[in-house]
Amino acid sequence: MDPVGSFRWRDVMQLSDVFRGITRVTLGNGSSSLFWKDVWFDDCDTPLMEIYHGAFSFYINEDEPVAKIITATDPSLIFHLPLSTQAREEVRGIQQGTMHVLLDEGCTDAWECNLGGAFSSKLYYDNCLRDTAADDAFRWLWKAKSPIKFKMFGWLSFLDRLNTRNMLRRTHFVMEGNTYTCMLCQNPPKETVEHLFFTCPFSQQCWDKVGMLWPSTGNRLALLHAGREHWR
Ligand SMILES: [Zn+2]
Repeated sequence: MDPVGSFRWRDVMQLSDVFRGITRVTLGNGSSSLFWKDVWFDDCDTPLMEIYHGAFSFYINEDEPVAKIITATDPSLIFHLPLSTQAREEVRGIQQGTMHVLLDEGCTDAWECNLGGAFSSKLYYDNCLRDTAADDAFRWLWKAKSPIKFKMFGWLSFLDRLNTRNMLRRTHFVMEGNTYTCMLCQNPPKETVEHLFFTCPFSQQCWDKVGMLWPSTGNRLALLHAGREHWR
C-alpha cells in the first residue's frame, strides 16, 4: 500500500489549503491558526508565506500555529540556520510587526469568510473555479434532455471518476486475482473509461447498433468532440 494514500485523499487535503485561502482569522489564543498559511496579520489579506518568501524557505515546520512562533525564544527550533541575508531581514521585519500581537488564552481563534458575504458553498466554488474554463462537453451534458441519473453518470465518466478497474487500481482497491483488465476482451487491456465505453469490442458492437463509430484514439473528451463533429 502506498503510504501517501489514494489520490482522492490528496484532493481532499488540498481543499483545506483552498479553505485557508478564503478565510481570515481573528486571533484568540493563536493555537489553531497557522502562522505562515492563514490570513491573520494586521491588515494583510495574504498569508505571510506569500509576503516573506525568504524567511519562509528556511522554516522547519510550515504548519506551526501562530502562538508557537510568536512565543518562541530559540530560533534554531524554528529555522534551518544559518539564514540568508534576505531571510534575516525578513525575520527582523516579522519580529517588529508581531511585537504588538496579544494572544488571549481564554479565547479561541475565530474564522470568517473573506469572499464578500456569509460563507456558502456557491461562493466557495465560484471562487475556486474562477480561473477554470470547463470543457464544452460538460455544457452539452448538462443541457441534454436526459434523466439526471444519466447526466451524473456522464459527468463522472467525463471526469474519469467512475469505478472502472483501472480506477480501482489507482485507489489501491484489491481485486480478486489482482486483475484490473477488461473482462470483456480476449487479450485484455486496462479497463479505462476510454476502453470500456469507446474502444472495447463489446462497446463497439453496441455503438454499431445505433450506427456510431468512434475514433480509435484520444481521451474521452477528445472522442466526444470528434463524435459531435461527425454526427452533429
Ligand atoms: Zn474490453
